[in-house]
Amino acid sequence: MSQFWSPAVRALTPYVPGEQPREKLIKLNTNENPYPPSPAVERVLQQFPIDHLRRYPDPESFALRETLAEVHGVGPEQVFVGNGSDEVLALAFQAFFCQPKPLLLPAISYSFYPVYCKLYDIAYRTVALDDRWQISLEAFDVDNGGVVFANPNAPTGHGHGRDAIAGLLNRITDSVVLVDEAYVDFGGESAVPLIADHPNLLVTGTLSKSRSLAGLRVGYAIGSRELIEGLERVKNSFNSYPIDMLASDVAIASLKDGAHFQACCERVMTTREWTRTQLESLGFEVLPSQTNFLFTRHTSYSGASIFSGLRERGILVRHFDKDGLSDFLRISIGTDDEMQSLVEALLAIV
Ligand SMILES: *Cc1c(COP(=O)(O)O)cnc(C)c1O
Repeated sequence: MSQFWSPAVRALTPYVPGEQPREKLIKLNTNENPYPPSPAVERVLQQFPIDHLRRYPDPESFALRETLAEVHGVGPEQVFVGNGSDEVLALAFQAFFCQPKPLLLPAISYSFYPVYCKLYDIAYRTVALDDRWQISLEAFDVDNGGVVFANPNAPTGHGHGRDAIAGLLNRITDSVVLVDEAYVDFGGESAVPLIADHPNLLVTGTLSKSRSLAGLRVGYAIGSRELIEGLERVKNSFNSYPIDMLASDVAIASLKDGAHFQACCERVMTTREWTRTQLESLGFEVLPSQTNFLFTRHTSYSGASIFSGLRERGILVRHFDKDGLSDFLRISIGTDDEMQSLVEALLAIV
């Protein structure tokens, strides 16, 4: 605490990202992709004309937005890009949810959402998950200043189908519904096609997980022209150039390589289901997952004890020390070899 901090900064509770260890560990704690990005990325980086760096990048990131638009079957004017989807989310919270009515969030979801609420002084209400750890979309049927949830949800892994989201959008028409699709490529169903009929739907996405580009920091939002314009207003009051030239070229190359992307997602999903079977045979309860992680608890060992047992054996997973969740571990899907090591370590622990 410092006397020099603004009063609002003294009251913040910042998000704590998963650890990025300096020593060599098997890292299954931040849902990074275990496979390298598209080979096209390496070519772009090797051939990048260094002299171009003298200039500022395109403040509108038009080429990148055009590529994202093609991939998602929308127009470039319906796409917004930012420095990771975390930044896009932050701008969206400021653009749409600083409202007199409270924002609705699932009680268990991406823990950055309440952090943004605190930052912008947004009143919010949390809505309990159902008894299968799934977001109950009906629970959002109350007067609200907006709705935000991840679909598939993190850290629980369950995703609702497009029809269910369409149902929600038929009931909520005068506030913004933000669906965070960070994990949708691992077996979820995207809500993007609903944007045509629902001007209050904003879908966010990222190249960090399914495109193996967490280090690049590129995220995006897709929505009606009026929502995208709202985001542009906030962005242009904050940072004109969130996407640097290298990030733009690399992201475009990655997005154009559909085959590599598809193959990596399928490998992750296959390994996920293999890991599920192994965990279940070791006495774990494993929630269904449409993501690149599994959310699991052991029937007789605490989450904390398994977390530290794994850590001693050089394997890092995510443990949330929060009420109701402390027996669970969130385990990112790594390579087949990494998951084999995980299973062997668990065999020694339980
Ligand atoms: C990882 C993640 C993000 C952030 O992604 P970046 O694009 O890397 O900032 C957003 N939402 C959820 C639910 C995530 O898990």
